[in-house]
Amino acid sequence: MDLSPIPDPTFAELIALRPHLSLDALAGLMLDDVPLAAIADALGTPVWVYAAGAMRARYRALAGALKNLARVHYAVKANDHLAVLALFAAEGAGADVVSLGELRRARRAGIDARDVVFSGVGKTPDELRAALAEGVGQINVESAEELEMIAALARAMGKRAPIALRVNPDIDAGTHPKITTGRRENKFGIPAAAIPALYAHASQLAGIATLGLAVHIGSQITSAQPFRAAFAEIAALVGALRGAGQVVRRIDCGGGLGISYRHETALSPEAFAGALRASLGGLDLELIVEPGRWLVGPAGVLLASVVLVKHAAPYPFVVLDAAMNDLLRPALYDAWHGIVPLAAADAARGSAPHAIVGPVCESSDAFATARALPPLAPGARVAILDVGAYGAVMSSTYNARPLAAEVMVADGGFTVIRPRQEIADLWRGETVPEFIANRPACGRAMT
Ligand SMILES: *Cc1c(COP(=O)(O)O)cnc(C)c1O
Repeated sequence: MDLSPIPDPTFAELIALRPHLSLDALAGLMLDDVPLAAIADALGTPVWVYAAGAMRARYRALAGALKNLARVHYAVKANDHLAVLALFAAEGAGADVVSLGELRRARRAGIDARDVVFSGVGKTPDELRAALAEGVGQINVESAEELEMIAALARAMGKRAPIALRVNPDIDAGTHPKITTGRRENKFGIPAAAIPALYAHASQLAGIATLGLAVHIGSQITSAQPFRAAFAEIAALVGALRGAGQVVRRIDCGGGLGISYRHETALSPEAFAGALRASLGGLDLELIVEPGRWLVGPAGVLLASVVLVKHAAPYPFVVLDAAMNDLLRPALYDAWHGIVPLAAADAARGSAPHAIVGPVCESSDAFATARALPPLAPGARVAILDVGAYGAVMSSTYNARPLAAEVMVADGGFTVIRPRQEIADLWRGETVPEFIANRPACGRAMT
């Protein structure tokens, strides 16, 4: 992707398009008026930094555009930190969860169980029982097989599970193949043609209360067109179901709103609301949406330090102390993230292409292959932009690298919301069994 003929945006362009970022001649790059260098000085790198104000502003912009039209359920998987969840809970958001762990996180952050939607293709019986016991507001059903499983579990508990059938509309969202979910060949949802019969069957099942339908066609969608097509298909299904005498109260319209990482035009809340209103407004439906990336993606940066610059052809390697175990998106999806020096003096110097990599022992541990950067000395620091979504949540400790610290900035200051993991935490819970520990050679070596 780095080799695209369209030139990359400059540092100034990246900063200008992100209202929470600014470059101060003395303090360098700032996030909501907090100098990022001060955070790196205090905590070391790599470190994730989130702007509470940007998250709140984005929530309010979206919820405002959807006022009287749809409720926002934050998709927890994008960034499941309790502070992020509590921030959205305080704004009145519900949650979309895909595991029992996410359900527990949402509840712990103060989100009412009735405001939780449980999605996912492989919800286990234990997870479903726990969700029913908690009283989650909606369970999205991904297959006829899952419907039977949920009905049996609910009946055994003397409950009725509130469900929506997830429709697979077979629509190409025009996004990266690894993040599309609404094509026939994807594992998600039920083909539209099978919905009427299954809905009628569901409404007869003792353990089931049918609420309506759900749809989610993919992620990082930057045009309203695929949404319009999906919502039109849902509206037609609602008409068919109601025509057959079924009650349809609620439509879960999914998430997937895209943001601008590089040159993409982010989907505006108004354009999304327009797509929703055009097909599903005025049908006397309760609408909910489940955005993740759009709410939190632009509000986070990952700070990293230059370990060294290794001279090589065609481009020198800038080796950072952050790696694919911290931010997986470039390795997983070829994702492009802006990379901006923290020091104003660095940002102002002339740039040349560099390969920007991490220290992990994988060739895919690269953040960029030909990225314009000024010459950076060891210890110089950079911010990797737009990592608030699908960033820290995808981190691992591969190569025995502790999880990076997380920080939230607000009101001109910053708070550590998760300290850097200690190295000794890496083997917490691991044991060496007797049959290894007591072998003579090893035993001697260990005394
Ligand atoms: C991932 C997911 C979302 C959120 O997707 P974004 O692209 O982050 O908005 C919403 N709903 C479901 C069912 C999902 O799987």
